[in-house]
Amino acid sequence: MKTILVTGGTGFLGSNLCIRLVREGNRVLCVDNNYTGSLQNIAEIAGHKNFRFIAHDICNPLQTEEKIDQIYNLACPASPPAYQGKHAIATTKTCVFGAINMLELAKKNQAVILQASTSEVYGDSLVHPQTENYRGNVNPVGIRACYNEGKRCAESLFFDYHRQDDVAIKVVRVFNTYGPKMNPNDGRVVSNFICQALLGKDITIYGSGSQTRSFCYVDDTIELMIRVMNSDKDFTGPVNTGNPGEFTVKELAEQVLAKVGGTSKIVYKDLPSDDPCKRCPDISLAMEKFGWKPTVMLAEGLDKTIAYFKTYIQEYKG
Ligand code: UDP
Repeated sequence: MKTILVTGGTGFLGSNLCIRLVREGNRVLCVDNNYTGSLQNIAEIAGHKNFRFIAHDICNPLQTEEKIDQIYNLACPASPPAYQGKHAIATTKTCVFGAINMLELAKKNQAVILQASTSEVYGDSLVHPQTENYRGNVNPVGIRACYNEGKRCAESLFFDYHRQDDVAIKVVRVFNTYGPKMNPNDGRVVSNFICQALLGKDITIYGSGSQTRSFCYVDDTIELMIRVMNSDKDFTGPVNTGNPGEFTVKELAEQVLAKVGGTSKIVYKDLPSDDPCKRCPDISLAMEKFGWKPTVMLAEGLDKTIAYFKTYIQEYKG
């Protein structure tokens, strides 16, 4: 039985990961400050004998009593409205101090540590689709910089701990992921559109809606993360994880509307600055190295996510 620590464990990706790891017979330590995550997300495993929640902000060092075998470092606000504005500095701190603290913990435990990096390291990409060797087009002084520069610095720390201190690292660059346990209030496009459609509110497209994203269902993202974590020692990544099916934001709005039905209409709002125009992962490396490819396409994934939010809204609509 492995002891696995997951930072950001009550968030969207983290809670889905914790549930799968517990079900597969691991002992899981879930670390979160619940700043954007929620205990509700881990309710179904909260009482499990192999699961423990630790309320902790990874900006501070963490000691554990038990020996840790693996660390998934997922903690960080990830939605633009959450990381922009008044939480920008906390976002950089989580990326940078959090990475240092978790790398130190990995070093002490001789644990393997996986960094949930992001497609945001490519910024407003000038190459398409994005391959892992592309170095990105990032505005270091823009409103997204706290997140994308923070995550870039975290990657750099991971590779320096690997080169300098021989820490076993894995870096996965996560492209847009969606599915059950997304926070309905975090302003992501998929959760916004579905909740707006279910509640009969206007569907808010930012800009013209011609910008593209490639949406990967959460189970596919987590499957690759687990395979990368358990890969041979020499493999560090970075490796892209995402679904190369590329859609404009307008197409997404139309698909959600067609599936949910109802009376919502599309309205257009200002495009936030530095919002990338096109995003699509090149997943050749994941396919070649891990025989991995996404199994849930957008239409099916949206059905599952709509079903989740329907229940969520019925239970929690105040
Ligand atoms: N977006 C939108 N309406 C919304 C929320 C987001 O049109 O209600 C757009 C946003 O401007 C971006 C895309 O959808 O172009 C994806 O946004 P999200 O916040 O989900 O992820 P990210 O920008 O990090 O890819």
